[in-house]
Order: sequence, then C-alpha cells, then structure tokens
Amino acid sequence: MTHLLTFFLHRQVLSLDANIVNQVNKLKRDLLRLVDVGEFSEEAHFRDPCNSYILPEVICHHCNFCRDLDLCKDPSVAQDGSVLPQWFCSNCQMQYETDCIEMALVEALQKKLMSYTLQDLACTKCKGVKEANMPIYCACAGDFDLTFSAKSFSEQITVFRNIAAHYNMRFLEETIDWLIVMSPQISQSRQ
Ligand SMILES: [Zn+2]
Ligand SMILES: [Zn+2]
Repeated sequence: MTHLLTFFLHRQVLSLDANIVNQVNKLKRDLLRLVDVGEFSEEAHFRDPCNSYILPEVICHHCNFCRDLDLCKDPSVAQDGSVLPQWFCSNCQMQYETDCIEMALVEALQKKLMSYTLQDLACTKCKGVKEANMPIYCACAGDFDLTFSAKSFSEQITVFRNIAAHYNMRFLEETIDWLIVMSPQISQSRQ
C-alpha cells in the first residue's frame, strides 16, 4: 500500500510544476497519516519509483564498452521534468537501444524466477542446506525454509513492475503479468 502510494506520488511530482510540490508534500503527509505511517519513518522515506535497480554488464553496441547501468540514477530527463526511457554509453555517448535494455531486464527477471524456483531449502536453526533425501525436519530439529523468501521475491517483482510502468516497457510488463499468473504463491504474498 505504502509502496504504491510513494510510487504514485513520485509520478505526480515528476509531472508537476514546482509551485505545487509543496501542496503535494502536504497531500503526502495527509495520506501517510491516513495509512498510519509517520512522515519520517523508514517506510515513508521518499523512494525512487524503481527503487534503484542496477542492470549489470550493459554492452554498448557502438564501442563495446561494458558497464553496470543504474536505471534509476542515470535516466534522461525531458525539459518538462518527465523521465525518458533513454540511457547513454558513458564512454562514447551513443544512446543504448531501449529495446535492448528492456530485453536485458526481461532476462534478469527470468533469472530471478529461476533462482527463486530452483533455490535450496535451508534449516532456520543451523542454516544447513536440505539434501534431497532428508526428512522434513533437520537433524537439529529445526524447520527447513526458503533461503530466497516469497516476500523478497515479490518485492523484486514490484521493482521490475515499477520500472516497466515508469519507462512504459510493455513487453516487460506482459512478462511480469504472465509470471504472476503462473506463480499464484507470489501474488498471494504481494501485499
Ligand atoms: Zn559506447
Ligand atoms: Zn538444522
């Protein structure tokens, strides 16, 4: 709820005239009061809608320069203050193809899905990894649980969804929708 709220407000702020930013801040305070989160609490911290996401090893097709691209810290901003889905090579200044960035995001998302799906179970007490032939409880009597929790996975999905909405990436958005449909346990832990 709060996450959606900050995302919504950020989008608004981006497209607003500076004169009414104060009004928006007041609105934010009122809304946060409504959902019972203090203005200066950790949760209320005004986060970037894409929450900082670093796409590793982006290669420039023009000069082959390779770098990690922070999609939230290196955006292009239009004159009206809106954020454009454009990024440039820091070596030769050529623009990256937005489609390539989107494809790389889809791949990163698929990798996350794989590591979530194929992860090991670990004992919550002794941190030992569950072997295939082990009983449902660990030898130390602890419970086995996921190492990559459904909650943190769904938080990461939210980051991808915010990036897709923020930069109008339809294919990424469709991939996320498909993933949610295919993995009901993720949608269940979404709030
Ligand atoms: Zn380049
Ligand atoms: Zn154990």
